[in-house]
Amino acid sequence: GSTIGILGGGQLGRMLAVAAAQLGYRTHVLAPDAESVAAQTASSFTRADYHSRIVLDEFAAIADVVTYEFENIALDPIVYLAAKVPVHPAPAALGVAQDRAEEKTFVAELGGRTAPWAKIESLEDLRTALADIGTPAILKTLRLGYDGKGQVRIHDAAETEAAWEAIGQRPAILEGFVPFSHEFSILLVRRGDGAMVSYPPPWNQHEDGILARSTLPAPAEIASQWGEAAALAGRIADRLGYVGVLACEFFAGRDGPVFNEMAPRVHNSGHWTIEGAVTSQFENHIRAICGLPLGDTGLTAPSVAMENLIGEAANGWEAILADPGAHLHLYGKEVRPGRKMGHVTRLGRG
Ligand code: ATP
Ligand code: MG
Ligand code: MG
Repeated sequence: GSTIGILGGGQLGRMLAVAAAQLGYRTHVLAPDAESVAAQTASSFTRADYHSRIVLDEFAAIADVVTYEFENIALDPIVYLAAKVPVHPAPAALGVAQDRAEEKTFVAELGGRTAPWAKIESLEDLRTALADIGTPAILKTLRLGYDGKGQVRIHDAAETEAAWEAIGQRPAILEGFVPFSHEFSILLVRRGDGAMVSYPPPWNQHEDGILARSTLPAPAEIASQWGEAAALAGRIADRLGYVGVLACEFFAGRDGPVFNEMAPRVHNSGHWTIEGAVTSQFENHIRAICGLPLGDTGLTAPSVAMENLIGEAANGWEAILADPGAHLHLYGKEVRPGRKMGHVTRLGRG
């Protein structure tokens, strides 16, 4: 059988390895971290720095196809690997998703709505942009943010200097705060031949910038914007010649869906699909990168709710297991505050 190479050792890599095994593939995980939860389920594992050419050459020799589970992975090794072995999604998609300014420019060119934004190189830029965009606004690092890390909210112009100091990384990006009723995501799956499917959109609720829960079916405010958002996500995927699962986050705004950001990978807001959809996002990602037919994305129950177990709040697991309808997933990570430790999915009757 063939071997799927997975870059990154987190829970997404682990869930991809489980899905791959079910379809009869071997997986080989390459991750630098001492603690890798993907190592527990992959067929084989290399713990090494993926910037090393020797390590990458070995990885490319083992893998028939390569994918990754983290969008903040360095682009260079991905480009290097792509010359030796098929890599999905392609480096171009990763490059766009790694830079918030590039991402917003790209999406606007395809007719998508975004928050008003400006690239910020200096305190002076920030003052000018704030005068233009107004408050409230959010200053974000241009690159490498996740789970709301690398963001400072600015409620008043008096906070300008403190925000600039706090953000640290340059350049940064200032975004106007989008007034929204709900947040949701479009998860689509595309194959190399252009075949595409997408999941019904979950309503995503965040707490402190981290996804707290995803619920389906989505309320009317989201359902009415689903078509426009899914069409935009489809144009993004087509333009990038995308292969695999693509996640696009949206705000349900007053005038329609506002694109927030994309992730070129399987996504936390799609964890509900393991039990709540006919085919999980992980299986569909494996199917897409292996050129297999894509699976049904329909719901398996009238309603589905996925809740993240975060940091120290993630105790009481026995109580969750006592609920016969709860599907508990624990990632086997060491507890740290604010860390995603696991999730629980419940299917409902109505
Ligand atoms: P992720 O873990 O999803 O990659 P991230 O660190 O890249 O997160 P964002 O998705 O940009 O961060 O922001 C995290 C959350 O902060 C959003 O889901 C949303 O709730 C809020 N947020 C971010 N930008 C804006 C904005 N311009 N207007 C309103 N809310 C925002
Ligand atoms: Mg992000
Ligand atoms: Mg986000």
